[in-house]
Amino acid sequence: MKIIVNLGLIVVLTLTTIITGCKKDDNTNSSSQLITPQSFLAADNYTSLIIEVKYIEGYSPTQESLDNLKNFLSARLNKPDGITIVTSSLTSQGRTSYSLTDIRYLEKLNRQYKSTNKILTAYIFFADGGYIEDTENTKILGIAYGATSAAIFEKTIVDYSGGLAQPTQEVLETTIMNHEFGHLLGLVNNGSKMLNNHQDLTHGHHCTDENCLMYYKVETSDIIGNLIGGNIPELDNNCINDLRLNGGK
Ligand SMILES: [Zn+2]
Ligand SMILES: [Zn+2]
Repeated sequence: MKIIVNLGLIVVLTLTTIITGCKKDDNTNSSSQLITPQSFLAADNYTSLIIEVKYIEGYSPTQESLDNLKNFLSARLNKPDGITIVTSSLTSQGRTSYSLTDIRYLEKLNRQYKSTNKILTAYIFFADGGYIEDTENTKILGIAYGATSAAIFEKTIVDYSGGLAQPTQEVLETTIMNHEFGHLLGLVNNGSKMLNNHQDLTHGHHCTDENCLMYYKVETSDIIGNLIGGNIPELDNNCINDLRLNGGK
């Protein structure tokens, strides 16, 4: 009896360690034009969006997750000429861990689509390893960096999904992709002005609403517990209001 209880605790403690890292350091982009969250949200400068997904062979996101991301963005972005996701693979270099420098370097080598004319582009890299800031007890599932880029640590997502007491791969991938994209859209107070103050200052650019996609505990076991039920967290009204205030819908 005690052993079973302890095993349960081990699972919970392991899940407690899952977090996402959310970095967004500057507005630089492969193109020379300044890209801001408003470039995503409004149609003034860009009327369509291409999301370039580059995954290491064997670490592709599920089609369902990509469809979920597209639906999430279609509901919020004014892109009358559409949102398209293009995927292609890269050969593994056998890395078990990536630094931000590695990720930026791979982007420089491999990103094909540049924002031009009315077409905005974003780039998501799916890695076959973890993040360099991972520790034995702390795994990072995704980061947003620059103005249009994100990396998802797919190997870690696979490790932490699809099993007993774990969310499905689709639910975990969708949650992390949507959350990181939320940062690219300027949430919270991360380039998109707030209508009402709802920034959780203790936890950086996150939302104070514990049910919101942008709550910091999306990065902890609390959300993993919720995800097991199959629910993908959604933006709360404060976050949606911010997106609308800054050109979104
Ligand atoms: Zn975050
Ligand atoms: Zn929120």
